[in-house]
Amino acid sequence: MNQSLINQAAELIKTSRGVYVLTGAGMSTESGIPDFRSDSGYYAKFDPVQALNVDVMLGNPKRFYAEGYEILKDLNNREPNDGHRALADMERQGFIQGIITQNIDNLHAKAGSRTIFEVHGETRGVHCLACGVEAPFKVLAEKVDSGEIPPRCDVCGGVLRSNVVMFGDAMPDTFAQAVEAVTHSELLIVVGSSLSVSPVNFLPRYAKHLIIINKTPTPADRFSDVVIHDGAGETLCAVYRALSEGYHD
Ligand code: NAD
Repeated sequence: MNQSLINQAAELIKTSRGVYVLTGAGMSTESGIPDFRSDSGYYAKFDPVQALNVDVMLGNPKRFYAEGYEILKDLNNREPNDGHRALADMERQGFIQGIITQNIDNLHAKAGSRTIFEVHGETRGVHCLACGVEAPFKVLAEKVDSGEIPPRCDVCGGVLRSNVVMFGDAMPDTFAQAVEAVTHSELLIVVGSSLSVSPVNFLPRYAKHLIIINKTPTPADRFSDVVIHDGAGETLCAVYRALSEGYHD
């Protein structure tokens, strides 16, 4: 842990008016959820761009429910880690205004964060592609477990799908709100993202100042104010400690 970088990050947070945090799959690896691109990530098993793809879900549902669905199905049972809790504390204390997350695991909300832009959707719910009726994820899970593929809506018989934004889907309105938030703030902190999934990876370009917290280098490192190549949980706890101690001085 490089304390000088932690202090620089804390100083930038304290002096910025409007701070948002963009999180990716690396935020949740310490909660036991694999990311995409680390050595133990999903790419080691199959190509998530093909597996979590709306065209595959509709055109080849057997493949979708054998591969992509594996990523989605047990995300509701995970628990937040110290990093999620540190971000929730930072928001409560007014150091950050909110979180833009690519994650679909609901862990920021479970940790107590309040302003969350879920730009890739969520795994809490599902909806019918024909009539739009909404249901909890477990309705779809029970149908899939009983071999009903694709799972069908109890109301109209249309195809049910997860509320997760998949490759090939349009981005939700939440993404436009996230762009707006970043444009009108002074600092974006990126945590646990390789910044390789578009269009979210454009967000750092809209930021006036940038902090990167990621185990491995990202394409945005070269235009960032502070770059910390370390674990998300430990780093965010250290930044929160530096912020809180500063306030008590
Ligand atoms: P990615 O796998 O492309 O990148 C993750 C990055 O996090 C890597 O650069 C890795 O070095 C870093 N990392 C891993 N563990 C870390 C840790 N403990 N501390 C700090 N850095 C760590 O993920 P992405 O950029 O988020 O893009 C993948 C897409 O798939 C996104 O939409 C993502 O949200 C989604 N996804 C979500 C989940 C989830 O909801 N938990 C899990 C897998 C993938």
